Amino acid sequence: MQYVSTRAAASAAASSSQQFSDILLGGLAVDGGLFLPTAYPQVTGAELDAWRQLSYADLAFEILKKFATDIPEADLRALTAKTYTKEVYKNARKGEKASQITPLRVLEEGENGTKLVLQALSNGPTLAFKDMAMQLLGNLFEYTLAKQNAQLNIFGATSGDTGSAAEYAMRGKQGIRVFMLSPHKKMSAFQTAQMFSLQDPNIFNIAIEGVFDDAQDMVKAVSNDLPFKAKQKIGTVNSINWARVVAQVVYYFRGYLSATTSNDQKVSFTVPSGNFGNICAGHIARMMGLPIDKLVAATNENDVLDEFFRTGVYRVRKSSETYHTSSPSMDISKASNFERFIYDLVGRDGDRTRALFQKVETHGGFDLSGKPGADGDEFKLVAKYGFKSGKSTHDDRLNTIRDVADDYGIVIDTHTADGIKVARENLEPGVTMIVLETALAAKFNETILDALGEDAERPEGFENIEDLPQKFVVMPPDVEKMKAYIAANTGL
Ligand SMILES: *Cc1c(COP(=O)(O)O)cnc(C)c1O
Repeated sequence: MQYVSTRAAASAAASSSQQFSDILLGGLAVDGGLFLPTAYPQVTGAELDAWRQLSYADLAFEILKKFATDIPEADLRALTAKTYTKEVYKNARKGEKASQITPLRVLEEGENGTKLVLQALSNGPTLAFKDMAMQLLGNLFEYTLAKQNAQLNIFGATSGDTGSAAEYAMRGKQGIRVFMLSPHKKMSAFQTAQMFSLQDPNIFNIAIEGVFDDAQDMVKAVSNDLPFKAKQKIGTVNSINWARVVAQVVYYFRGYLSATTSNDQKVSFTVPSGNFGNICAGHIARMMGLPIDKLVAATNENDVLDEFFRTGVYRVRKSSETYHTSSPSMDISKASNFERFIYDLVGRDGDRTRALFQKVETHGGFDLSGKPGADGDEFKLVAKYGFKSGKSTHDDRLNTIRDVADDYGIVIDTHTADGIKVARENLEPGVTMIVLETALAAKFNETILDALGEDAERPEGFENIEDLPQKFVVMPPDVEKMKAYIAANTGL
């Protein structure tokens, strides 16, 4: 399996292609595009039938081996077996089996033949769906670095979810260190405790005296010093990482196969969306031949994606137009994985994709509505790819959390509430609608308290997390001090 950049000129695509292991540790392609396979591997009906019975780990192996053709199959099988265990994804709700890794729960079967189902993706160590991919990434990185006798220092900034998922995936891994910046005293007590209670010698928590943007600016400044970056073997694990996307493809297959008994049954997915990483994996599963009916993107007040799927206009937001909401992991101003879908939408034309995303930089967006003066008319093809969308606000979240607690007796988090709200608007007779549960309520307790007047239940082992000893350093937003700290701790 070969990979190309979404911005590669047609003439250059064949010569510049790379294998899975070549792109595993990197981020953007050198031309600024994102990596995709030259063609999506296809699954047959017979394969789907055979896969219905597989464990999650075995299913992950079958799917990954179609993409990671340069990793020996026995090694890949060992990596997926080590990752997808009931010990790692142990935070399942009462009445759900942790061994299923992403258990389904039927919420409602309507008299008119509609069905609403929740698929739990947030039973991993940090209680959010990012663990689904990040745990595999940790094992893949360790494996690949050992083979190359290399090391990697992951450097990033977080306001919560991604940083903790990365730390829990990389803790104790050979050849890897994590330097994670966060805004000092700006994260919730729960999130702070999750990260700072890690005592592993390869995890470095750095609390920056400033806000998230100060931390982010430091990451950019350090990363722009290319000689330093090379010498210190600095890398990232952001949401455009291809292996993360592939790992997420697996749970769409698992959801479809668990919800059906034959491949002519219709299933749609509603996905709480921000950077378009999660739902992009659903798009890829569909392109591989998984019979997904609709892919519904649910956004919060930051509705960049909803606007595109309603109008064909992609308009990124300024930071002054990006709202801090009660589903904060979806507070994005632009969707970093969206280019992967647009590349397919414009017929895999790298020149066209490059021009459109250059226009995002220069003009803040593009317009594919086909109206006079637009940049194209491909919006008319969006339905063919199954995409739909909807939007949810703070009040919707509170109401949905209440409804779901009343009607089904479970407490959902704020992001999942956005998903349920939009899913309900898109139910169709005869079609099972699976909503992806992207976090557990305990992570966003403040809003749960507002909605229900009581605290969200914490999974076992998290009861007193705030009381555990914490390991972190506090630093001013000073780039030279940051570099000195990294170099002192890597010894490179
Ligand atoms: C990251 C995240 C999302 C958004 O996922 P994208 O892949 O960025 O679209 C939604 N919900 C939660 C809880 C998250 O952590």
